Amino acid sequence: MKKIISLVGARPNFIKIAPLHKVFKAFSKEVTHKICHTGQHFDENMSKIFFDELGLPKPDFYLGIGGGTHTEQTAGIMIEFEKVLLQETPDLIIVPGDVNSTLAGALTAAKMGIKIAHVESGLRSFDRSMPEEINRMVTDVLADYLFVSEKSGLENLSREGINSKKVFFTGNIMIDSLVHYLPAINASLITKDLELSLKNYILVTFHRPNNVDNQKSLQDIINLLNTISKEKKIVFPIHPRTKSNLEKFDLLTQFTKNVILTDPLGYVDFLSLAKNAELIITDSGGIQEETTFMGIQCITVRNNTERPVTVDIGTNHLAGTDLDLVKDTTFRILNGAKKKGSIPELWDGKTAYRIIEILIDKLTTI
Ligand code: UDP
Repeated sequence: MKKIISLVGARPNFIKIAPLHKVFKAFSKEVTHKICHTGQHFDENMSKIFFDELGLPKPDFYLGIGGGTHTEQTAGIMIEFEKVLLQETPDLIIVPGDVNSTLAGALTAAKMGIKIAHVESGLRSFDRSMPEEINRMVTDVLADYLFVSEKSGLENLSREGINSKKVFFTGNIMIDSLVHYLPAINASLITKDLELSLKNYILVTFHRPNNVDNQKSLQDIINLLNTISKEKKIVFPIHPRTKSNLEKFDLLTQFTKNVILTDPLGYVDFLSLAKNAELIITDSGGIQEETTFMGIQCITVRNNTERPVTVDIGTNHLAGTDLDLVKDTTFRILNGAKKKGSIPELWDGKTAYRIIEILIDKLTTI
């Protein structure tokens, strides 16, 4: 019997690990799968609601590493995760995505000679000022099995000299969750509860530090949303980081009434809002992919994307961070300039199976 521990810490991690946990249950004779939660995201509506909705069990280990600087978080997770690894001696750990928990997990396991699988490997924004880019690059150097979600990842890893024998193009694990929960998403009542007419509102999320950490850019975002909301209702579920900055700069009262502010939403309600929106404006990574899969127009308020397939063949419009350009793009889309988009290869809801088949095969040789 082999033992695998998945290390998760943040909202998008929970969404990526849930499909793997489901499939691991079907292989319970070969593998024990345990989940370790670092505590990076600890609020009820950023963590527990996802475990409940996505059918994840209570984590086997909880490290309790909450806020702090990047170094404090990364080091804190390493110290606590090392204890778990010493006690459990797993054959392999899985780290999804690009958050500090991903990097900390990979570093800890690598130092202890424990094999590492990185799910969502190879994505690159080529912008090292993003903490996620550092996390991705280092994790990929350390990983033994690299599972790639889109073809650009294969090129990036090859260019960085990663041995192609370790790299597997298995598709997008986030889409597994989306496909699995589509019936629940379709049954959600959130659009009714918020009194929204379908395909006639805009959904917004912002949480990247360079958009929400300083007063001027937050004020500019509020001005933009207030302007757009004269034409279209807006729903804005506010990430805790964004909320605490809006409070710090005393900006929460500046939104006009056509901008509906909510707490972060659970997975099913959020995806229901996304699926029924006319347009999403975001700086999220994962939402670029979900909108491409659902054929929903998405404006990404960033200067780069590590998910270029969403722009090349999907419905993502990379608008940059000049908010005048974002406003122009918004009105162009509302006036009909919509991308048709198609679904990238292997975004089919079966990624978890492909990953686990490979891992089981490899584990027998460890
Ligand atoms: N999401 C959610 N509720 C919200 C906002 C986002 O469930 O209020 C989901 C979203 O559908 C996607 C994931 O959270 O699956 C993306 O997380 P986030 O934008 O925080 O992280 P990123 O993808 O940028 O790393």
